[in-house]
Order: sequence, then C-alpha cells, then structure tokens
Amino acid sequence: MNLTALPAFTDNYIWMLDDGQQALVVDPGDAAPVRDALQRMGLTLTAILLTHRHADHVGGISSLQNGRIPVYGPLSTAIPQVTHVVSDGDHVRWANRVFQVLATPGHTDEHLSYFWQDQTNPVNEVPLIFVGDTLFSAGCGRVFDGRIDQLYNSLMRISALPDATRVCAAHEYTTGNLRFPQTVEPLNPEVAQALQRCIALREEGRPTLPSSIARERLINPFLRCTQPNVLASVHAHGCEDTRPEAVFEALRTWKNNF
Ligand SMILES: [Zn+2]
Repeated sequence: MNLTALPAFTDNYIWMLDDGQQALVVDPGDAAPVRDALQRMGLTLTAILLTHRHADHVGGISSLQNGRIPVYGPLSTAIPQVTHVVSDGDHVRWANRVFQVLATPGHTDEHLSYFWQDQTNPVNEVPLIFVGDTLFSAGCGRVFDGRIDQLYNSLMRISALPDATRVCAAHEYTTGNLRFPQTVEPLNPEVAQALQRCIALREEGRPTLPSSIARERLINPFLRCTQPNVLASVHAHGCEDTRPEAVFEALRTWKNNF
C-alpha cells in the first residue's frame, strides 16, 4: 500500500493511499491535485475520508465525487456531501483495510481521525493515523468551535497509539512550529535535530510528514505537559497550575500569541 502526500493550496496535504489500482483520499480541499495524481499514477478513486468541515478539507469533494464514490465523515450540516456518517468506534472498510474512527474534537466539535493498524502482522506495515487539524508535527490545532479540554483529551488519545504510528497531519507547518518548542524547551536536543532534519527536507522540496507518535512525544510540547522542563517553562510564563490540562491550556494560549 502506498501513502502519498499531495500538496494543495499553500501548505495543505491531501493524503492518498493506493494499492496500485484503487485510491482513497483524505480531506480533498481541492480536486485538481487529486485528479492529477490519479491520472499520473493510473488509479481509480474509490473512497473519500473527511476529518472535519473546514473548506480547505472539503472543497474538492463535489467535483471528485460524481455521486458514486462513498464519502465517510462526521455528522455536520456544513458537509452534505457525506454519504456515510461515521462516529467514534465505527469502522470504515476499504481495499482489505479496516480504519478505526476516533472522535478527536477540539479544533472543531465534529473532528474525527482515522486509524489503521495491521492486526494480523504488525511488522508488515506500520500503523497510520489521519489526524486532520488535531495534531501537527511539533504543534496542534487551534480551538475554533471545539473546547480546549476536548483538544487535550483528543491529543492524549492519539499520543497513546503505538510508537511507530505514522502521523498524517493536514498541514506542512513543521519548520515554523518548531520555533515554539525551541522556546519552551531550549535544551531539548530532539527539537534541534528535528529542525535540522525538516529544514533539509524542505530545501529538497520534500514533506516533513508523516511524523510518528514516538517523535511527537519527544518534540511536541503539547504532548509533553508532564515533563519537568515544560512545567518550569510554563510556570515562568505565568501559569501556576501544574495539572496537565492547565499546562496544555497555558501552552495553547502562549502559542496563540507567539
Ligand atoms: Zn481546520
């Protein structure tokens, strides 16, 4: 199974999985890059997954869908193109794969993520998760109409997935994001290494994604709310509360004004 990040707009990725014949895309905000890739690679689109209703994730559906391709997504009046409404605990079957649907609200109230793991042979192919705008490499989504406590719980849930899980986020924000952990944890060597790696990848025009759960646990302050260095930094920035949820909220507010 091939995993491809199709660049769209200025910094979006539309993730595509294919088995050499069939393709599935996640959050096609624009139809053109999907059509180009299908044509170039000789693939037929047979499923669309949606994480949430924002235009840069759903704008291309109508022109790709033709009334035939199943569109899996959350219940939302803003995305009437969804043909199969799914929610937490549901499964989406496609090309011998079964994706597990995880409710990951916070960025928006209806946000979903899609996790896949080979249950029979975990070393055969590493697991992956499509996280939309919930988790980014070295950062996380902003709270639009969800709540901060929802976002915290969603990120904790994602962070509990297997270490090797490939994290397919919807934006190429990594290099810019890493400025924040550099400030929160200036002595974290993993952050400095990640920045070097990402600058080199971007200079070659390559995506910095997917990341992995293991890497995010090392570099992403939003998944490190119990680390002493993060606590000390947030405390120095005015947050007296040491509960992980409070540290998370303080980090998110700090980043909003960073
Ligand atoms: Zn969004």
